[in-house]
Amino acid sequence: MTRRVDARGAAEVLARHDEVTVLCHLRPDADALGSSAGLARALRAAGITVHHSFDPGLVPAGLSGIPGADLVVSLDDVPVHHGLVVTLDCASADRVGGWERLRTAASEVLVVDHHASNPGFGSHMLLDPAAASTATLVLEILRAGGYPVDADIATALYAGLVTDTGSFRWGGPGAHDTASALIAAGAETTRLGHDLLDAHSFAWLTVLGRLLRSVTLDAESVGGRGTVWLAVPYDVISTADEDDVESLVSHLRGVREACVAVLLKEYLPGEWAVSLRSRDGGPGLDAVDVSAVAVALGGGGHPAAAGCTMHGDVDSVMARIRGLLG
Ligand code: AMP
Ligand code: MN
Ligand code: MN
Repeated sequence: MTRRVDARGAAEVLARHDEVTVLCHLRPDADALGSSAGLARALRAAGITVHHSFDPGLVPAGLSGIPGADLVVSLDDVPVHHGLVVTLDCASADRVGGWERLRTAASEVLVVDHHASNPGFGSHMLLDPAAASTATLVLEILRAGGYPVDADIATALYAGLVTDTGSFRWGGPGAHDTASALIAAGAETTRLGHDLLDAHSFAWLTVLGRLLRSVTLDAESVGGRGTVWLAVPYDVISTADEDDVESLVSHLRGVREACVAVLLKEYLPGEWAVSLRSRDGGPGLDAVDVSAVAVALGGGGHPAAAGCTMHGDVDSVMARIRGLLG
């Protein structure tokens, strides 16, 4: 049984424990790592023993500038304990990865998330699909619990907010209010923005040049919305930085002739991490809900940004997605 809580209820759960494991999702993005790092730092400052991790626990280079990223431990090194496990930005229990031994030993599991597709797990769950980022929810919990927000916490939370709002293109006035509060608390935005949104290795540019030659466009698909596709095969992905690969979807999203973007990433031979993106195409062409496609394929996400994991060769994977997109 999962009990739904608000920020105050989540703060009450936190206050019951003196040892807490803080986890975010596999292949973390800046919201996963930033929201968890911000919470971890606030709890440590309150004298709580904190284990901050994800599966397997290697922080990608592009996220290493988030304050607290250096304190992440490998999931195997988190001791089993009878306290609290908090999961952040995880749309389902399997997005946490191999956490079963920690989950079963924990007396309580607090889920903090903003994915509408979240089916509900844990003993307590703060789920708000209207929140621009999971980092936003962490700030609400810290406020409700009276935890001081220092500059490093603010920077870590800002990392999640700026990336999950597409640099404040969506999220509404609330996202700007949250940003204002974080900047007032000392969030560093300039170097962080460069690290998270612009930076990549020089070598990546040549890889990108080769990859982009294989991009394809189905201009008439999805009722005339158009779909742009790119597959990154295992032999390329195995030598690239994960955050460089993850950044590819923003190139696809910029294609004017397509309202849907599909990026297929073969992180393991025959196993594809799929990123789906959607936008509206003007009058008569509203945005399709790609989270419905992701959910049908066992994944989840938001209406305009979703993902799933698929198995098989690239043609069969593409055919299944194409069939669902219509
Ligand atoms: P990504 O394409 O990995 O940036 O993910 C886009 C959105 O979909 C994010 O909000 C993810 O948390 C969510 N998502 C990605 N993959 C999965 C999955 N396998 N299961 C559930 N949600 C996912
Ligand atoms: Mn995420
Ligand atoms: Mn998020």
